[in-house]
Amino acid sequence: MLPKASAATKSSKSATSSRSARAAADLGLDTPVQFVKGVGPKLGAQLAGRGIATVRELLYFFPRAYEDRTRFSTVSELREGEQATIVVTVLNRRAIPIRSRNTRMLEANCEDATGRVALKWFHFHPSMEASLTPGTELRVTGKPKRYSGRLEILHPEIQRGKGMPAMPTAAAEPDFNTGRVVPVYKELEGIPTRQLRKILWNALERFSGILGEDLPAATLSQHGFPSLPEAIRSIHFPGEGTELQTLAAFRTPAHLRLIYEEFLKFEYLVLRKRLNMAREEAPAVPRAQANPAVADLASALPFKLTGDQKKAVEEVLADLSLSSPMNRLIQGDVGSGKTAVAFLACGAVLAGGGQAVLMAPTEILAEQHYRGCVRLFGGRLRVELLTGKTSASARRELMPKLAAGQPLLLVGTHAVLEEAVVFKNLQLLLVDEQHRFGVDQRRTLRDKGTRPRPGSPGRFEHPHQLVMTATPIPRTLALTAYGDLAVTTIREMPPGRTPVITHVVRQAGRARAYDHVRKELRAGRQAYFIYPLVEESEAEGFEHLQSVQVAGERLAKETFPEFKVGILHGQMRPDEKSAVMQSFARNEIHLLVSTTVVEVGVDVPNATVMVVEHAERFGLSQLHQLRGRVGRGAHASVCLLFAAEHMGETSVQRLKVLEQTQDGFRIAEADLEIRGPGEFLGTRQSGDLPFHMANLVRDQEWLFRARDDAQELLRHDPELEKPVHRPLRSYYEREGKVHFERLKTS
Ligand code: ADP
Ligand code: MG
Repeated sequence: MLPKASAATKSSKSATSSRSARAAADLGLDTPVQFVKGVGPKLGAQLAGRGIATVRELLYFFPRAYEDRTRFSTVSELREGEQATIVVTVLNRRAIPIRSRNTRMLEANCEDATGRVALKWFHFHPSMEASLTPGTELRVTGKPKRYSGRLEILHPEIQRGKGMPAMPTAAAEPDFNTGRVVPVYKELEGIPTRQLRKILWNALERFSGILGEDLPAATLSQHGFPSLPEAIRSIHFPGEGTELQTLAAFRTPAHLRLIYEEFLKFEYLVLRKRLNMAREEAPAVPRAQANPAVADLASALPFKLTGDQKKAVEEVLADLSLSSPMNRLIQGDVGSGKTAVAFLACGAVLAGGGQAVLMAPTEILAEQHYRGCVRLFGGRLRVELLTGKTSASARRELMPKLAAGQPLLLVGTHAVLEEAVVFKNLQLLLVDEQHRFGVDQRRTLRDKGTRPRPGSPGRFEHPHQLVMTATPIPRTLALTAYGDLAVTTIREMPPGRTPVITHVVRQAGRARAYDHVRKELRAGRQAYFIYPLVEESEAEGFEHLQSVQVAGERLAKETFPEFKVGILHGQMRPDEKSAVMQSFARNEIHLLVSTTVVEVGVDVPNATVMVVEHAERFGLSQLHQLRGRVGRGAHASVCLLFAAEHMGETSVQRLKVLEQTQDGFRIAEADLEIRGPGEFLGTRQSGDLPFHMANLVRDQEWLFRARDDAQELLRHDPELEKPVHRPLRSYYEREGKVHFERLKTS
């Protein structure tokens, strides 16, 4: 509950507030923020510049933390660096000139019964100096520190105590800065927290009543949630008796309600999209056609499929047999055998005369897939390659085959998206390392397979889609950002792999690490050295970072002069890159110094050492991927993660997760926790997930609940036509478009 401050609000009917009253009546929550009492045009423009242009955006600008100001400390209880509120009396104050900065500092010495403390301000209004007369009682909040033996607080928040003349700005201001738990907002440059608090207070006073409720009453009572206005109010100004710990953990009913609401609104859309896709049409691949073709191809393989691969094939074939499009993601660690599964799926499609395309993010990978396919199946699976390197004459031969509908698998890079590439009968799309592609690219590919449904005028069918990723997707992301896809997980690795031993190496261990590399190279093995940057110039402000160019030359000349060193980075031309890769694959290059361009899929079984410089600059999942470049042959392999000397213990601890586990899923969860979802989304989403309050790691449990409820909703009232769901429906009509835009997953 808000304390009663309305008397003051009502008595100050200025020109602004009557204008704002009119604006508010017209626009409600869309009222420009400048009409909130205490804002005005100048501050309004400042706020708008930070993404807070309307009252709604202001009310949804949530505190990032809370501070307990219900208890006062004594000066003797102050601890350096710990925020506290004290009540003190001013002894004296003076403005001290600081010549070096051509400014003045205001210092006020204060005391309570237990000790003394100095308050200091480097920017202050002259009236402030005047108001701090000796004897003034102050409530002071801030973080004390010691400065030449004395306790001081820099730029504290202060408020006059009772019985003292009011500060010029604090006239009749309700006490929302002390004596309660107060919100702490994200720093907006030039707008003090204190002022934000006041603005929010005023906005809540005037506008929170018109916040509309989108959730059905039954949902609120089922989960014990407060109404929206109540929730928003108590998120900004928690009621008396709210535990600080509960607040800090975002676990009050008000927080949970907003978290749940964000998840529910998102999950309804995701699941609805899935339902809609299930209603689309696709060319079914009957099991009678698929099973023998797949069995035939599998028998040609030089290995037996793992249990998880078999399960994956089974799931894919089941999807393909339906006359609605498959939308499936196969996730599995590098080397878990995803591509083999994808090839088998192609076999099923080709057997019925359909065509398939496999798009890979780089030329190296496309070529590798192509060669792999030829090596594994010989002529049993017809495959063609199309990359930027494909000659004009080869293209002239290829294009008519595609257009004529010859049943084949086209493996390629982005080149397969070109307009000239026309399929007659494209039934299956495979996208490797799908997060490397944009939404529009996948859409373009899909359109190549969309065509009128035979025998059904006016209806269309779409190709089946199978996307692959070696970056495991944490479960919460699978349900949100990837919620429209069915997910197959391959956890089991093919037999005969030796686990990669991983060490985090500090400066002291570098010489020993180099010795190990030398030993491996002498034994005929190969090594990767990975650097985060290409050229020194990129490293502006990071002089300590080594670049591929510089490091490559140094390693070649000084550290490993007896071996052949190659350099690979993203700014090289594709043909230069693949020339280097080919030499490495043929063991003509022993040590490959590279940026992360080698991260995906590259397969050189003779490489047994992966060294990553500045490992702290990479995400854990990315490091895990890099590590997957070794340990692909019969020889024992190591991964050495060099951490910069200045890195703190936490960064090193973070890296040590990789020493402890090879489980890509555990690593992905840790990464999500540390670095947030951006790492996993890649170019998939245009923006971030639309969660202001909800957090995929902290709030998992509520995601699952919201998803269940969204499922219920879709079962009982999919179009939200019942009166109780009307508000939710109009919410989507109002704002759903924005949401849908974020969900551009197909
Ligand atoms: P991913 O795409 O998941 O990284 P691939 O499908 O490229 O993995 O497989 C990696 C390597 O392992 C390839 O050389 C492939 O031929 C081989 N492979 C795949 N499945 C098996 C298996 N069940 N047993 C042995 N080797 C396999
Ligand atoms: Mg792969």
